[in-house]
Amino acid sequence: MTFEELDIIEPIQKAIKGHGYTHPTPIQEQSIPILLDRKDLLGCAQTGTGKTAAFAIPILQHLFLDKKRSSGARNIRALVMTPTRELAIQIDDSFTTYGKYTGIRNTVIFGGVKQNPQTTALRRGVDVLVATPGRLLDLMNQGYISLKHIEFFVLDEADHMLDMGFIHDIKKIIAKLPTKRQSLFFSATMPQDIVALSHKILGTPEKVTIKPEQATAEKVEQAVYYVSKRCKVSLLVHILLNEPYESVLVFSRTKHGADKIVKLLVRAKIRAEAIHGNKSQNARQKALANFKSGETTVLVATDIAARGIDVSGLALVVNYDLPNVSETYVHRIGRTGRAKASGVALSFCNGEERPYLRDIQKLIGQKIPVIDDHPFVDDGTEDAVAAKPKKPQSRPKPKGQNKWRGGASSKKAKRPYSGNRD
Ligand code: AMP
Repeated sequence: MTFEELDIIEPIQKAIKGHGYTHPTPIQEQSIPILLDRKDLLGCAQTGTGKTAAFAIPILQHLFLDKKRSSGARNIRALVMTPTRELAIQIDDSFTTYGKYTGIRNTVIFGGVKQNPQTTALRRGVDVLVATPGRLLDLMNQGYISLKHIEFFVLDEADHMLDMGFIHDIKKIIAKLPTKRQSLFFSATMPQDIVALSHKILGTPEKVTIKPEQATAEKVEQAVYYVSKRCKVSLLVHILLNEPYESVLVFSRTKHGADKIVKLLVRAKIRAEAIHGNKSQNARQKALANFKSGETTVLVATDIAARGIDVSGLALVVNYDLPNVSETYVHRIGRTGRAKASGVALSFCNGEERPYLRDIQKLIGQKIPVIDDHPFVDDGTEDAVAAKPKKPQSRPKPKGQNKWRGGASSKKAKRPYSGNRD
């Protein structure tokens, strides 16, 4: 399947080809025809699947083809709502990229920064607005934004919107939308409350599901280390000093934990920075920019702050803490191995986290190979027994042989997905 076959108009095709996309991803292949047909869409998909382009391209195409209709001042005709600033900025960038030759104007608004530059951009007139819920409501209440011309509405990462407590804001915003519109609803997971919310937004939607396995199994090499809580930092330092991964994203469950990890990495002369909700927007942007430019090699993030981080060529994802929600694991490791690139995801699992590991393996339908030749192996008795460092026989390498093991035994396992990558 090609973008031509999806009936994408020339100016958008030119932009996406210029951006290096040759073929649509599965979610794009499935969603674009539905959306060009002006149907509502319920998409069960996570970040990393190409879902931004799956909704941005058809919206841009509709706006471009209807451009003549809107003579005079520009009105906001498409609204994309997303939970975090990072994700909002990234989606806005995507609209700019794909819409480069369309003359469609887009802007982004989010909280935590001064509103003036945002209201100035809004006053100049935009066709597409990408927003986080709090700032959107705020600027609506101040009279800077009217939703009465909205024709396209996207609710992105619905499950995280609810996790972050945005439900009331979302309901207030939906109430202001025109009833005649095309609505798109994306969520990585579909528990009951999400399904209920989708009913409030969508008419009779078409459904597209991109299974987590499709996103992870093909591209990401995964492995797990059994290690006690107190030895996790030492293990991380050990891995990072022994293998010079160029860009590493480390997930910490808590903000405090993220800061502590950074402190200890820096002490070991590893260039690391943290990104989480307690940092100012500027500090977060700076940390992200340093990471993208290679100034720092390790970014330690909480799940919420990491939403929307899109760094090409991310070599390694480390689950320093295993998440208790299995879908989060899939989300995290989707940060590496994006689009065509392959990546490595290593997980640190202490005794308490073993049930989480079981759940994750159940969700992804595979057993994650265990690396047991490291100095901090924990036998699962949790932190009561301090793991005694011993000399490693061999170290895990980003590329190479014999690093993947099939379990706590020394039986060798096949390197995962080696025959499966493109
Ligand atoms: P998303 O799920 O929207 O965050 O996209 C994940 C990554 O895939 C981003 O880095 C996109 O730039 C990239 N991407 C999206 N669509 C394509 C495509 N058709 N070909 C190659 N890369 C893509």
